[in-house]
Amino acid sequence: MKGVSSMDDKMKDIKGKATALSLYNTRDRLEDMIHQAEQNDISYTSFITNVLDGEIRYRNDKAQAKRIKEAGFPYPKYLKDFDLGFCKSINAKQFKQLSDLTWVDGIYNLILSGPPGTGKTHLAVGLGYQACENGYRVSYSSMQSLVQWLRTEEIDRRSRAKMNRIRRSNLLIIDEVGYLPISTAEGNLFFQLVSELQEQTSMIITTNKGFDEWTEFLNDAALATAILDRLSYRCDRIKFTGKSYRLEKRQSFLKGGEKTCEVQ
Ligand code: ADP
Ligand code: MG
Repeated sequence: MKGVSSMDDKMKDIKGKATALSLYNTRDRLEDMIHQAEQNDISYTSFITNVLDGEIRYRNDKAQAKRIKEAGFPYPKYLKDFDLGFCKSINAKQFKQLSDLTWVDGIYNLILSGPPGTGKTHLAVGLGYQACENGYRVSYSSMQSLVQWLRTEEIDRRSRAKMNRIRRSNLLIIDEVGYLPISTAEGNLFFQLVSELQEQTSMIITTNKGFDEWTEFLNDAALATAILDRLSYRCDRIKFTGKSYRLEKRQSFLKGGEKTCEVQ
C-alpha cells in the first residue's frame, strides 16, 4: 500500500514539474508513456527522445490549430476533397504546384474567377488550410467583411484587430469580390490595402466577374485598372468554367418525390 502511494506521489511530483516547464504532453500522457516504455523495454535514450518528440508534436499541433482558428475560415474545406475530375480549369500538375505553396513564398497572387458553384471557394479555403498546416499565417475574409473592417478600423477595436492580422498575414483570401457593388471611398480603401500588401502578402481572390466587369462593380474605371494592375503583376488567373457542382451533384431526400407530383 505504501509503495502505491509513493508511486502516486512521484507521478504527482513529475506532473507538477512538467507543468512548471510547460511540458503539457508529458504531464497529460505520463502514465501511458511510462507504461509503454516498460512494456517495450526501451532504452533511456529512446525514452527521452519519445518525451521530447511528444512535446514538439504537441506544440506544433497546437500552433497549427491556433493558425486555423485565427484565419477565420467560414467552414472547413480540404484539398484532399477537391475533385480534379470535376474541375476542368486546372490539371493535376498545376494542382500539385498550387498545393506545394512555394508561390506564397514568392508572393504571387491567385485570381479564381467564374460562375457560382464551380469550386472557387473550395479551392481557396483548401489552399488556406494547407497553408496553415505548413506554418503560414493566413486570413480569410469575404469582400463584404473586408470593406466593412476597412471602413471602421479607425473607430472599432475589433475591425482594427482584424486588419492588423490581415496586414501581418502571409496569405490573404478575399472571397466573393464583385458580388456586391462598392462605393468609390470603399474602392479607394481596397486599392490602398492591395498596394500596401503587394510586396509582402500573397492574395487569393475569388470573383464572379471578368476583368472587364471590375469597372462596373467598382464604379470607377481608373480605380479598377489601378487595382487590377497591382493584383496582376505577379499573378496566375484560373478561370473556372462549367456547371455548378451543387446542381450537378444535387442530393435530394424525398424518395420518389417527382412521381407524387405527376399530373394524371
Ligand atoms: P464557388 O465558390 O465557385 O461558388 P464553391 O467552392 O462554394 O463554389 O463550391 C460549391 C460546393 O461544391 C461546395 O460544397 C464545394 O465543396 C463543392 N465543389 C465545387 N467544386 C468541387 C470540386 N471540384 N470537388 C469537390 N467539391 C467541389
Ligand atoms: Mg464561393
